[in-house]
Amino acid sequence: MNAPSRPATRPYAQVGLAVEGTWGDARPEDVLAVLGSVRDCCLAGVEALDADAPRAITALGIPGYPNPQCPAIALAGQTALVILCVSGSYWSKLAYQFGHELGHVVANNWGETANTRPPSHWLEEALVEAFGLAGMLRMASRWSVGAPYANWTSYASSLEQYARSAIQDHASVASGAAFASDPSRWLADCIATLEPLVGLDRQAVGPLVARLVSEFEAGPEAASDLSALNLWPERSALSLAPYLDAWEASCTATGRPGRLPITLRDLLGVRS
Ligand SMILES: [Zn+2]
Repeated sequence: MNAPSRPATRPYAQVGLAVEGTWGDARPEDVLAVLGSVRDCCLAGVEALDADAPRAITALGIPGYPNPQCPAIALAGQTALVILCVSGSYWSKLAYQFGHELGHVVANNWGETANTRPPSHWLEEALVEAFGLAGMLRMASRWSVGAPYANWTSYASSLEQYARSAIQDHASVASGAAFASDPSRWLADCIATLEPLVGLDRQAVGPLVARLVSEFEAGPEAASDLSALNLWPERSALSLAPYLDAWEASCTATGRPGRLPITLRDLLGVRS
């Protein structure tokens, strides 16, 4: 009997990267160096699903844009277009924005079928926020010994401070103590607030984000699982239990480790 065939993969960190648009007084080559480091640190050891992942990502700088854009736009040639809105050499803010949006791309929210439909998009927002913050922490430790330019080494502590402060802000929202004492009760109390969300609401998902950062810090497995999210027709238009079921099945079908949906199920007390 033959083993079930696995979809073809390629190293995700090799995804092409280009910058276009306006970045204030920051040089485009410096912006590219920062974004390249985010890509490398967020995606080290992650295998991309060949058919679903982009072959290239273009970051388009539009300083006046209200927010970074999710879902990313799909361009020809399996290229994802991510709109960022940072003006000037604010490397921490740039890394933060791109890390979060890169998470949405990894979560397959960039192709023709991309959308932010309720009732389970809130979970993707929490996951990609944690994905980006864990990447920033990895980036800070990498820059402390090998920044893209030697004179950027001092930015390592800014990156770490920015990420730790964001994680602390997430953990300390009003429902943080309720989450810390009983995550499943927290979910039951918050689900009516979470389900309509179509963007990141720190007050609503903060405590879960802070908890998930450690999953993404532990190794590439969590990001591998993220790369199997939304690969079914209903995408996030499923309630939480069937959403986690679909994600778990997608992890199995694509040869991903599949631990993250199980961790979430256990943590939040979600029955299949
Ligand atoms: Zn988002």
